[in-house]
Amino acid sequence: MLHGCASTLSAVVSRRVPHLTAKLQGFGTTIFAEMTALAAATGSINLGQGFPDTDGPRIVLDAAIDAINGGQNQYPPGPGMPVLRQAIAAHQQRFYGLTYDPDTEVLVTAGATEALAGALLGLLDTGDEVVLFEPMYDSYQACIALAGAVAKPVTLRPPSYGFDLDELRAAITPKTKLLLVNTPHNPTGKVLDRAEMQVIADLATEHDLIVLTDEVYEHLLFDDAEHIAMATLPGMRQRTLSISSGGKTFNTTGWKIGWLCGPAALIVAARTAKQFLTYVSGGPFQPAIAVGLGLADSYFTDLAADLQAKRDRLLPGLTAAGFEVYPTRGTYFVTVDIRPLRADGDGMALCRELPQRCGVVAIPNEVFYANRHEGRHLVRFAFCKRLEVLDEVVERLARL
Ligand code: PMP
Ligand code: GLN
Repeated sequence: MLHGCASTLSAVVSRRVPHLTAKLQGFGTTIFAEMTALAAATGSINLGQGFPDTDGPRIVLDAAIDAINGGQNQYPPGPGMPVLRQAIAAHQQRFYGLTYDPDTEVLVTAGATEALAGALLGLLDTGDEVVLFEPMYDSYQACIALAGAVAKPVTLRPPSYGFDLDELRAAITPKTKLLLVNTPHNPTGKVLDRAEMQVIADLATEHDLIVLTDEVYEHLLFDDAEHIAMATLPGMRQRTLSISSGGKTFNTTGWKIGWLCGPAALIVAARTAKQFLTYVSGGPFQPAIAVGLGLADSYFTDLAADLQAKRDRLLPGLTAAGFEVYPTRGTYFVTVDIRPLRADGDGMALCRELPQRCGVVAIPNEVFYANRHEGRHLVRFAFCKRLEVLDEVVERLARL
C-alpha cells in the first residue's frame, strides 16, 4: 500500500522492499541524503540540503561546551530541561504575546522532526485525515503514513504560492482531524499573510480541527514579511500546536533541539508518543539553546538581514543563468522554474546532472509533492551560505 505518499522521496522504488512495513513501502532514501552524498562525491557546492556554512553565536556554542564540561551529560528530564522550557515560553511571550506554562504547555523534542512525529503519532488514529499544503517538507507524509492516517494535499502554485479556498474547503471531510501548516514555507519561501492565516483559522474553527503549525523559519523573514503565529489569532491558541527548532535560528542544525507549544491536552498527546521515540535527547545543547532564545532582539533581526543579503546575492545570478526565479520572503530557500533552460522540464534529471555540469547541487522540488507532476519543473536552491560561496555558485551556473 502506497498511501499516495511514496512520491515525496527521491528513490521511489517500483518493487516492494523486502521486510519493510507496508506503511513505508515507496519511501526510499530522502532526497537530502542523496543530494548531500552527491555533493560530497563530486566535490560540488551544496545548495541542496538546507544548512548554514557559518557557526551560530559564540555565546550559544560556549554554553554547550560549558554544559558538557560542567557535567550535564546524562538524560535530561522527559519534557526537556526546565531552563529551556522557560526560555521557550519567554520567547513565545516576547515575540507573539503568547503565554505558555513551561511545565505543562511546552515540550522539548529531538528537532522539529521529532516534534512533527510526536504530534502526528500522538494525535492521529488509523484512517484520520490530515489536510496540508504541497509542496511540503518531506517528513510530513512519512509520519502521517506511520500513523496509518491519510494525507490530503492542497497544491500551492507559483508565482504567489497562494491557496485556493475552494480547494482547501473541498479537502476537508468528516474524517479530517488536523490541518498542518508550514509558514514561512519550505521550499517556496512563501510567508502566509494574516488574511490567509485567518481563512485557515476560520476553517479549523468551523470544522473543529487541531492545527499543527511548523514555524521553524519564524525568524528568517525578508523585506516587510511578518510571521503570523496561528496561536495568536482569536480562538486559535486552544486548538494549535506550534513547532519550532533551534537549528534554524542559531545555525545549529546538527544539534536537533526542537519544541512544541500548545494547550496541555495536546502536549500530553504529543509527549506520550515522543517519549517512546527518543525519550530525551541533546542534554548539553538544551541549556545552550536557552541562552540563544534569550538573546537581544537585534540578534534575530541581524540574522534575517544577513540572510536577506545572501538571498539578494544569489537570486540575480539564478536569473542571469536563465532560470525563472520566484520570490522568496522567508526561509533560506528559493524555487526556480527550469523550463527556460531545459525544455523537458525535468528537474530531477537536472539536479542529477548539475554536479557534473557545473559543480552545484540543488533539490528537485517534485520530492515535496504528492502530485509529483506539479513540481517536476521546479528546483530549490538554499542560500544560507557565505557570500563568496554564492558568488562562486553564480559563476558556475553561468556555464549552463
Ligand atoms: N520542518 C521544516 C519545514 C524544515 O525545513 C525542517 C528542516 N529540516 C524541519 C521541519 C526539521 O527541523 P529539525 O532539523 O529541527 O528537525
Ligand atoms: N530542512 C532542511 C531542508 O529542507 C534539511 C532537511 C534534512 O536534511 N532532513 O533542506
